Amino acid sequence: MNTRKQEATLERLAARHGKRLFRAMARHESRGLTMDRAQDMAMNLMMKDEDLRYRMLRFVDVYPALRSQASIAEHLEEYLTAGELETGVPPTRLSDLARSIGRHRGITQPAIAMASRLGIKQMGNQFIAGNTPGEVARKVSKMEKRGFLFSLDLLGEFVVSESQADDYQRRYLEMIEDFEDELGPAPKQPAAGPRMNLSIKLSSQTSKFDPMDPEGTSRDVRRRLRPLFRAARKKGAFLNIDMEKREFRDLTLRIILDLLDEEEFRGFPHIGTVHQAYLRDAEEVLQGFLAELSKRNQPMTIRLVKGAYWDSEQIWARQKGWQVPVYTDKRETDACFERCAEILMKNHKVVRTAIASHNVRSIAWALALKKAYDVPDTALEFQMLFGMAGPIKETLRDMGHPVRIYTPCGELIPGMSYLVRRILENTSNESFLRQRFTKGASPMTLLANPKLPPRPEWAKPANMGKGAVK
Ligand SMILES: Cc1cc2nc3c(=O)[nH]c(=O)nc-3n(C[C@H](O)[C@H](O)[C@H](O)COP(=O)(O)OP(=O)(O)OC[C@H]3O[C@@H](n4cnc5c(N)ncnc54)[C@H](O)[C@@H]3O)c2cc1C
Repeated sequence: MNTRKQEATLERLAARHGKRLFRAMARHESRGLTMDRAQDMAMNLMMKDEDLRYRMLRFVDVYPALRSQASIAEHLEEYLTAGELETGVPPTRLSDLARSIGRHRGITQPAIAMASRLGIKQMGNQFIAGNTPGEVARKVSKMEKRGFLFSLDLLGEFVVSESQADDYQRRYLEMIEDFEDELGPAPKQPAAGPRMNLSIKLSSQTSKFDPMDPEGTSRDVRRRLRPLFRAARKKGAFLNIDMEKREFRDLTLRIILDLLDEEEFRGFPHIGTVHQAYLRDAEEVLQGFLAELSKRNQPMTIRLVKGAYWDSEQIWARQKGWQVPVYTDKRETDACFERCAEILMKNHKVVRTAIASHNVRSIAWALALKKAYDVPDTALEFQMLFGMAGPIKETLRDMGHPVRIYTPCGELIPGMSYLVRRILENTSNESFLRQRFTKGASPMTLLANPKLPPRPEWAKPANMGKGAVK
């Protein structure tokens, strides 16, 4: 626990870093209209119109199941023209317009189907790097030339058959063995471990990922992981185990430790996992996991995130009548992220930290901790998602920090749940990106300490517009 004086020093440092980041970001924000920016504008449109957002998300959700042009057009029309949604979100002029387009009989079904396919493909292009290895390698090469690192993610999760799990394992293996050759010679980059970095979801490695059967699940998953880890050791690649829904967390951590307890993988340094700060027990679980790593003298990188399943965790728990496992006040998640970041940085001799956030306050706090705890450059990196937060990525890179871009690849249909999560995240009222880029919240507001109660309206300084930070 920090003393008040230490807390105040950290807070001052975080504010200074935050202001500096906002000032530097302005340079990247003011560039002309690019394809990325046009896509951002489409996303902004959805952010501004809650009714349209719900209608489009419902459509994107059922889209993979629609087989014919007629059924695509029927569903789109039904979702757009439905008068009232259960959400009670009032319709706006834009969704009125969309509904009237849906009702317009002159538009033929193939035209509607083609337009929606194109729209979804366009959204996919924003968040997914490509389908073929060549396509992905071209994008990754460009990112590398611009000074970024990468982590590949093969889209798809929750396999339903063992042959599907075999197929994922084979494709992961091919990526570890061949992808670097597709890329060509490595440019000079900050020291942040192996060039090849792959993110894996364990639910893709067995059709029976069952928290009620930890032994059996661990056995099945490790059987498929072993060849991947052997290949990674041989090729010098880094493997990150992503974190999925809450129900899978403890078993995921257990499988990682079970694998590292096997003689041949003991001490393997190029491994990482993820910690989700939106979970109410995040700090306790993090401390417990670090203790296990210390006991084994096992190096690891921990990617700290807030958590991508916030909507579904709540719905799921409420349906079951269970206590909601995630914080329901955004400031509490942000505050927990900061406390977890501090736990990680204090333990920089045990773990490397990857701060995975697009939120300038969370990033500024991490930079303050780096200074306060004298964390070496090699023990901290920043990570962001492909297709998001361009100005923040570029700013951190310009400042000399390692920035890794999480790069999903593969087909759009298996990637649909990833796409829905990104749309939810980007258009959520509470998200940092929406507050900053759509609502124009001031840097002062966005840099506020989430560990303190919010300032009452009357105490807020007047005229704190976008340019208030000097
Ligand atoms: C490189 C990278 C890898 C990632 N890997 C994973 C992964 O393996 N597993 C995973 O789960 N996520 C992962 N994520 C996603 C991550 O969890 C966040 O969803 C995302 O980055 C948004 O957080 P932020 O700090 O950028 O934005 P912010 O806008 O500051 O935070 C948004 C987040 O706050 C939380 N939140 C929103 N509303 C509320 C509320 N009312 N009450 C409480 N909390 C709320 C949610 O977690 C939401 O995603 C990854 C993100 C990145 C950048």
